[in-house]
Amino acid sequence: MSDSSYLDWPFLEARHRRLKAELDRWCRANARLLDPQGLKDEAGLDAVCRDLVRLLGDSGWLNYSVPANDGKTGQALDVRSLCLLRETLAYHSGLADFCFAMQGLGSGPISFFGSPQMQETWLPAVAAGKSIAAFALSEKQAGSDVGAMASRAERDGDHYILNGEKTWISNAGIADFYTVFARTGEAPGVRGLSAFVVAADNPGLSVSERIDIIAPHPLGTLCFENCRIPATQLLGEPGQGFQVAMATLDVFRTTVAAAALGFARRACDETLAHVLGRELFGAPLAELQMTQASIADMVLDIDSSALLVYRSAWVKDGGQERVTREAAMAKLHSTERAQKVIDRAVQLFGGLGVTSGQVVERLYREIRSLRIYEGASEVQKVIIARNEYKRFTTHFRKNHQR
Ligand SMILES: Cc1cc2nc3c(=O)[nH]c(=O)nc-3n(C[C@H](O)[C@H](O)[C@H](O)COP(=O)(O)OP(=O)(O)OC[C@H]3O[C@@H](n4cnc5c(N)ncnc54)[C@H](O)[C@@H]3O)c2cc1C
Repeated sequence: MSDSSYLDWPFLEARHRRLKAELDRWCRANARLLDPQGLKDEAGLDAVCRDLVRLLGDSGWLNYSVPANDGKTGQALDVRSLCLLRETLAYHSGLADFCFAMQGLGSGPISFFGSPQMQETWLPAVAAGKSIAAFALSEKQAGSDVGAMASRAERDGDHYILNGEKTWISNAGIADFYTVFARTGEAPGVRGLSAFVVAADNPGLSVSERIDIIAPHPLGTLCFENCRIPATQLLGEPGQGFQVAMATLDVFRTTVAAAALGFARRACDETLAHVLGRELFGAPLAELQMTQASIADMVLDIDSSALLVYRSAWVKDGGQERVTREAAMAKLHSTERAQKVIDRAVQLFGGLGVTSGQVVERLYREIRSLRIYEGASEVQKVIIARNEYKRFTTHFRKNHQR
């Protein structure tokens, strides 16, 4: 049983504690559905993910990822609830967490920047789990370096014509729509990008390849060939695409950190059960001091991550428009520390730790990509340092002007 003392920290309210308890109960009641079989091939994986999205929608959990479900522009998401949801789902099932997260990330730009009409068209079905969302920013030459984006959208009357390729797109192949970023050329670099919603069946859009990864989820490459998109599908203003992407990531990066925290907590619980039960040299493995050192490090990493995750979510919920610094710190620390926690867990399990089918073996594969996507750890360090330079310089100038 995981440590739950963090739920009493002042970052969280009574409604959050109720949400956490309710979701934990639901996850235990649906354990069989959340730990699906049939992942052997692409069709099986796709079917499982569709079922999970529908299950999360039917049970009402997806309402938390879609704030503007009722068509009210600008209504805020409760990031603390999102974090609790992702942490808890990740604890029970990495795939369920993935399905939940992508509904929010893929539709977030519509929630934050879509017209009331776009929100009405897309969001209720996302919240119900009837429509699957995806977020298509990355390209082969433009992952960390978003400014190198080559996909282009050219205005043609009341349409845009989109050409280019997007890769490593989660939900490629099963999504019903994609939030797509492309160069519209208002200015050089990231200031010349725009964001669009593109229906999966829009002529000119195809999934050109599927990509296998160590912890399977639907992932692939999208190809746009003279894909005509109504201009009404533009999110925000022309040239506002980078802002759309960053404002969305500003919210969802903290939730990636929360998912990593859920993986770490699960690894720690599995390890505690193992070391307390495993006999070694005539005593439980837990009695060895080096085991105790490992456990102490794991618990410390988990608590420090939780502090950063819920601090970031609390600041955002408190009304601060951007939490770039707090979210970067939470993502960097929580994902890196979760990797260490899980690695220690695998070590303490010995040969069992690398045996297919063991929970810690699955977690070892699942955590890895969280240190890469939605901004690699190095990118988070750059963000944190630049933020600090800016803060220091502003402070320095102010003091010298007096
Ligand atoms: C499982 C998975 C799912 C994904 N899902 C999506 C999705 O749904 N939508 C989407 O748009 N994209 C998605 N991505 C893409 C992801 O966002 C990119 O992989 C990520 O941004 C890194 O880009 P890249 O792979 O091109 O690596 P590169 O940009 O080539 O970077 C390679 C490495 O260089 C290092 N690095 C980067 N920048 C710096 C720096 N400034 N200083 C020092 N070192 C640096 C980092 O270690 C980084 O990992 C997904 C990726 C994965 C692995």
